[in-house]
Amino acid sequence: MTATKDDIITLPHADLRQRSQKVGIVDDSIKQLIEDMEAATISWEASRDHEVGVALAAVQIDQLKRVVVLRNDFDNKDDHTFTAFINPVITKYEGDIVEDYEGCLSVKNLYGKVKRSSKVRVKFMDIEGNERRLTAEGFLARIFQHEIDHTNGILFVDHIKDDPNAFYRLADEGGLIKLDYEKDVLSSDIYDN
Ligand code: ZN
Repeated sequence: MTATKDDIITLPHADLRQRSQKVGIVDDSIKQLIEDMEAATISWEASRDHEVGVALAAVQIDQLKRVVVLRNDFDNKDDHTFTAFINPVITKYEGDIVEDYEGCLSVKNLYGKVKRSSKVRVKFMDIEGNERRLTAEGFLARIFQHEIDHTNGILFVDHIKDDPNAFYRLADEGGLIKLDYEKDVLSSDIYDN
């Protein structure tokens, strides 16, 4: 049985705010987990008209392991290949602080304007069990910060909690519409755990 979008947990599920555990060795259970994460992301994307499933952390299918999968080509919905990052950590934040929109498969119908570093250095283990390092810039740097936050139990909405102007929703035709902070955000269940 492979995972589907129905395996993706969403707020206010309390596990999303748990720290995930470090992976020791990349055994068959981790390889199966990676396969499930990829399948769940593609299944989710197939159900959405205007969004791309760019990345997923294992906690999002309720497996508290420090594993992240990232789409190899975000601009091509037909490319269903991913790269897995095991025990990823940011070793250095560089560049400027930039604000841009983020969404999350575990935060239903909500987008936010989040400040992130424009450049990060990441250390991780690959699927062969080798320690690797990379430098990510721009959108990719943002994705790594968002996904590594997940492994630490942090969601993008936690960064903008006190900013009334940071919340948006997706319109039916694909654009973003600003939300009413009091009515749409504070009264929602995203901060309930
Ligand atoms: Zn997310």
